[in-house]
Amino acid sequence: MPQVLSHKQLLSIAEEFGTPVYVYHAEKIAEQYSKLINAFKNTDVKFFYACKALTNINILRYIKSIGANIDCSSINEVKLALYAGFTPERILYTSNGIAFDEIDEAKSLGVNINIDSLSNLEKFGEKYGHAYPVGIRLRPNILAGGNLKISTGHDKSKFGIPVDQIEQILSVVHKYNLFIRGLQIHTGSDIDDVDVFVKGIEVLFDIIPHFKELEFVDLGGGFKVPYKEGDTETDINALAQKVSEAFANHPNPGNRHLQVWFEPGKFLVSASGYLVTQVNVIKKTSATTFASVNSGFNHLIRPMFYNSYHRIENISNENGPEKKYSIVGNICETDTFAWDRKISEITEGDYLVFYNAGAYGFEMSSNFNSRFKPGEVLIKEGKATLIRRRDSFEDLLQNQLL
Ligand SMILES: *Cc1c(COP(=O)(O)O)cnc(C)c1O
Repeated sequence: MPQVLSHKQLLSIAEEFGTPVYVYHAEKIAEQYSKLINAFKNTDVKFFYACKALTNINILRYIKSIGANIDCSSINEVKLALYAGFTPERILYTSNGIAFDEIDEAKSLGVNINIDSLSNLEKFGEKYGHAYPVGIRLRPNILAGGNLKISTGHDKSKFGIPVDQIEQILSVVHKYNLFIRGLQIHTGSDIDDVDVFVKGIEVLFDIIPHFKELEFVDLGGGFKVPYKEGDTETDINALAQKVSEAFANHPNPGNRHLQVWFEPGKFLVSASGYLVTQVNVIKKTSATTFASVNSGFNHLIRPMFYNSYHRIENISNENGPEKKYSIVGNICETDTFAWDRKISEITEGDYLVFYNAGAYGFEMSSNFNSRFKPGEVLIKEGKATLIRRRDSFEDLLQNQLL
């Protein structure tokens, strides 16, 4: 049975902690992680949780406790990971477009680093030469992912060093005798087709022979999760099968053993998260019936930003007759969560839950309209704990010079 929180559990959290509130279910994260571990049990593999999806320190600690490693996209995420207790060797810093200072700092903290530009690779070589092993983030020129905003591997993407610049890469590597430990690609998010990863491996295999000290290939993240009824999840078992076949079928010069790394973000935390809101106003118009909740894209930006679908349910009246509502927020900007969605009859004061709110939910929230960021609650072994208090008025003024 998949791990899900019931309406009743969510309702009692709404009543105890107030709304809007993000709720995370620890056991669901563990369930997703074990899908990965089980599927890849015959492969030498490491998983690094791409923590930009959700960085509450309690979540990071939990993820550490279940055995995953962590992938960071900024030096502050690296510091949060250290704060959460990850040892440096369990931390990967996949940088992009950053100043060399940050790479320098990551190096001084002793974490794994993937470098994504020729310019930083050159600076790194100049300063450290062969002394500190690094990975290179490549751009495989593959188009994949749910939509262009979340596709990162195509030929107009800013991410990674384009593979067609391999000659330049090699000239920097040789010039400084760099210790290239890994090659990384991350092609996008919401990747349903496991062949995309295989294509990625193919691209990598062409250039692997150039790197004599290689220890791992890192295939990034981007596994898809289901958002609505009928949606599929990336078939992790098929992925594991195809990855091991691809490795088996490829000539491996010098029989070098290569570990496979992945950086799943959304896959681990998306379905563990719920955003519980309360309905402020019902407004009937000739176009639609609006239900305005005490939230908005200041709390969950994905529908407006990526056109993403989040399942919404009325947990205060789960068995009412279904009617069509447009679920909107309360901020001064069009912030439509759903248009003409069939939902169990809503009256003002009802609680609505948004599913799949764990990844890129709270993490992308803001104080737009000077509204408070929601609280966060973690449910573990049936027990609910507040892991971030809701903002207060003082928080809005905190960094301002008065
Ligand atoms: C965002 C990101 C990921 C995770 O993507 P998901 O779609 O959340 O799995 C992995 N690796 C890198 C480098 C990223 O930037």
